[in-house]
Amino acid sequence: MAIDAPSSPAVQPWSDRLRRAAIILIAAALALSVVVSLGELSVVRALTIFLCIAIAALIPWRLHDAAASRDDVRRIDPVESAAVAAVVAGMPDPAVLLDRAGRVLHLNAAAAELAPALRRNELAQFALRSPEIITALREAIATSEPRRADYLDHVPVDRWMELIVTPVPVPTLFGGTDKCMLMTFHDQTPLRRVEEMRADFVANASHELRTPLAALSGFIDTLQGQAKDDPKARERFLGIMHAQATRMARLIDDLLSLSRVELSAHVRPDTLVDLVPIIRQVADGLEPLARERQVEIDTELPEAPVMIAGDREELLRLFENLIENALKYGASGGRVIVSLITVPGSDGTQEIRAMVRDFGPGIAPEHLPRLTERFYRVDIGDSRSQGGTGLGLSLVKHILNRHRGRLLIESQPREGATFTACFPQPRIPAAA
Ligand code: ADP
Repeated sequence: MAIDAPSSPAVQPWSDRLRRAAIILIAAALALSVVVSLGELSVVRALTIFLCIAIAALIPWRLHDAAASRDDVRRIDPVESAAVAAVVAGMPDPAVLLDRAGRVLHLNAAAAELAPALRRNELAQFALRSPEIITALREAIATSEPRRADYLDHVPVDRWMELIVTPVPVPTLFGGTDKCMLMTFHDQTPLRRVEEMRADFVANASHELRTPLAALSGFIDTLQGQAKDDPKARERFLGIMHAQATRMARLIDDLLSLSRVELSAHVRPDTLVDLVPIIRQVADGLEPLARERQVEIDTELPEAPVMIAGDREELLRLFENLIENALKYGASGGRVIVSLITVPGSDGTQEIRAMVRDFGPGIAPEHLPRLTERFYRVDIGDSRSQGGTGLGLSLVKHILNRHRGRLLIESQPREGATFTACFPQPRIPAAA
């Protein structure tokens, strides 16, 4: 399956042809003059033979150029070839150098790992078997311009690669150049994933907004129609409409907070704040909800200030989300413990840990890694009935990232859940 286009063979420049012809003619002249001087050949015959060699050396270069690509491989200057092999081997992305028929001349370890079927001196088309790639190779050699194609790898996980075929001139033994093709693979998987996440996010956000909106307009219709003169129904429907409107407002609020935190993700807060009054303020603020759910909030906070470099408003939001979740989803346990401790970190510094523990139904292990994804809920119905947006823990994670902290989630079904916000010790001494 040769891909060399007959319409555009690689024609060698005249200087190359003359140089090669000159080498052959000098060698022939030397050999013939030795034979003539030994008396084995007449001068006329020697001249005739020399003339034939000269014609053969000068005329059929195009035929030689169109010869099989295995010859091209041999013609490539071995010194240059070693340099080219070193360059290909040193490329960070998977890279393969092909001759103009598509036969593999060099490939690096990353390419061998990506496509184990690729082997030296074998056609890449057989190994990659994609019509799009074969077309890209054919067009690149025919037009001398780079071409791109998609390469999908499904083992061991899905990977999307962009393949770029670039025609490159490689020096030959006789000072000329041969057209080869450099095939490089660029991993597009992270970009693809981000794009999928963005599309999912837009779909989720519009769905979440549309649901309460649809409920609101449904109730407005009912109130304008059959429930117009029914004060009891009106009262009940207005209550539901209020709850839906509050949910919408909360969703918009959470979306805005998320985008604000994301925008400033790279700027680490540098103001020193005391975590103790922040946590106390949130716990006190959530007392009415705790009473409503018949849950007792125990705060185990140190007397002394616990300083971190942080953004007060964001920290209030973080603890609001964690304690509110414990009250909402862990209410059946009847008790929530909020504590603050300092422990030695892995790198010799201290780590400040704020823990929110409940004794509710807990969370099954398969949900734990996904809890901080946007709109992820263990039970959508439960979350909605509690006025949840599915964005709370995502916001918590982003706020912690901005504070260079981390979130630990531990839970056993039926044994409650513990959410721990870990903060690094501030870089500025607390006394400052
Ligand atoms: P939501 O707005 O739904 O509360 P979150 O991002 O705050 O969104 O939480 C995501 C999901 O994690 C919740 O819907 C709930 O299923 C689960 N979850 C969060 N906290 C707890 C908890 N303390 N106990 C059990 N499940 C929890």
